[in-house]
Amino acid sequence: MSSSFTLGWEEWISLPDLGLPAIKAKVDTGAKTSALHASVIEPFGPVDKPQVRFLIQPNPDDLSLEFTCSAPVVDRRQVTSSNGEAEMRYVILTNLTCGDRTWPVEMTLTNRENMQYRMLFGRTSIQDDMVVDPNQSFAQGELSFDLYKGLPKRKPVKRPLRIALLTKEPGNYSSRRLIEAGEARGHVVEPIDTTRCYMKIDSGSSEIHYDGKCLPRYDAVIPRIGPTITSYGLAVLRQFSNNGAYCLNQPNAIAASRDKLLAHQLLSRERIGMPVTAFANSPKDTKDLVSLVGGAPVILKLLQSSQGRGVVLAETRKAAESLVDAFRGLEADFLVQEFVGEAAGRDTRCFVVGNKVVAAIQRIAAEGEFRSNLHRGGRAEAVRLTRQERDIARRAAQTIGLSVAGVDILRTNTGPKVLEVNSSPGLEGIESATGKDIASMIIENLEAKVRPLSRER
Ligand code: ADP
Ligand code: MG
Repeated sequence: MSSSFTLGWEEWISLPDLGLPAIKAKVDTGAKTSALHASVIEPFGPVDKPQVRFLIQPNPDDLSLEFTCSAPVVDRRQVTSSNGEAEMRYVILTNLTCGDRTWPVEMTLTNRENMQYRMLFGRTSIQDDMVVDPNQSFAQGELSFDLYKGLPKRKPVKRPLRIALLTKEPGNYSSRRLIEAGEARGHVVEPIDTTRCYMKIDSGSSEIHYDGKCLPRYDAVIPRIGPTITSYGLAVLRQFSNNGAYCLNQPNAIAASRDKLLAHQLLSRERIGMPVTAFANSPKDTKDLVSLVGGAPVILKLLQSSQGRGVVLAETRKAAESLVDAFRGLEADFLVQEFVGEAAGRDTRCFVVGNKVVAAIQRIAAEGEFRSNLHRGGRAEAVRLTRQERDIARRAAQTIGLSVAGVDILRTNTGPKVLEVNSSPGLEGIESATGKDIASMIIENLEAKVRPLSRER
């Protein structure tokens, strides 16, 4: 090791743990602890493992360059700044690189008026064998803010993420697994009851309130919005998105997946195979509607329904026509669909994460039942997909715009046909039948998508 390491009165440094490749620091031996100038400093995480999330604009001459960082909190300290003001500050411990050396330094976070130096280099951060020469500037060489160019795409910054899990059921299997997988990867996952969120919307801000408090910013949101609250749930999700959170599934994609008719139209446009489907608004066309899909037996589906509840089989034309009339009488929206008999009460659930089918199960209906939903007593077993099935599942999710989806397909004599694309697919059936850790794959996918840039709008 070289015996002398000189610091000038100003130095270029980088903070690799925070994902910041270049910052200009002022060496200030008058100060005890180092300080980093940040804004929107928000603590999060459990009391025994606190974290802090903050924004930093590394280049004082280009405020559009803005990054979100997070770091473990090692202390909170009363600090008196040079203007004599006392302030409670979070202290983080992070590696600092200067020249060819990297060493851990304690830094307080402070949000003061715009300072020309984003970091003050205090006494305690200067190692014993280092000398400070106030006549030198950049003794350890120069870096450039150009290092930030293209950074987000090339290398996702690894940092603890603050993730909101939008759900009404934080205790169910899927929620528990997502929380567990997120925490195992160092993130903080906070379940938030969608129905309890209320919002303030105006031109400059879009706030989300909960239990009398304004919610902080999140890096990402995992929406698990039930079909009974789709419309309000999507409004809440858009609000999170407006605040800069990355949504695992985008609101518009969820909306498309929830509207069975729209979903079918989108899939048809991409020539993705599906059972012949018909829809009409007027009761005058009942007979023709049944004929369009090839006559009895036919399936009728309520548009706003799930878990097989609103799906009925009409074995004869007479039965089909009376069912159509009955649904109309109730003013329910529904579609009429060709019954795929050869599927024999089975369907295949393909779980898509990102652009890949990561797992698949076959669901087999209970005796005497044509609907294979697990909620209808069906059972699940792992299944090997054909290449064609894999392909159609991937394309279906992509067409609806979902990055996490459960694509249900029927195996028919004329190839796979897509039944529906689910935007909040359950994890229990598929994880237990395949033994795969899908929750972690979802979190990994999220990590790759959350960009270090906080304000992309
Ligand atoms: P839900 O959203 O309520 O799950 P689905 O459209 O997925 O509604 O239908 C539920 C189940 O009914 C499917 O999993 C499948 O087993 C069966 N099913 C649905 N449509 C058809 C069809 N056209 N032909 C044969 N079986 C079908
Ligand atoms: Mg289904």
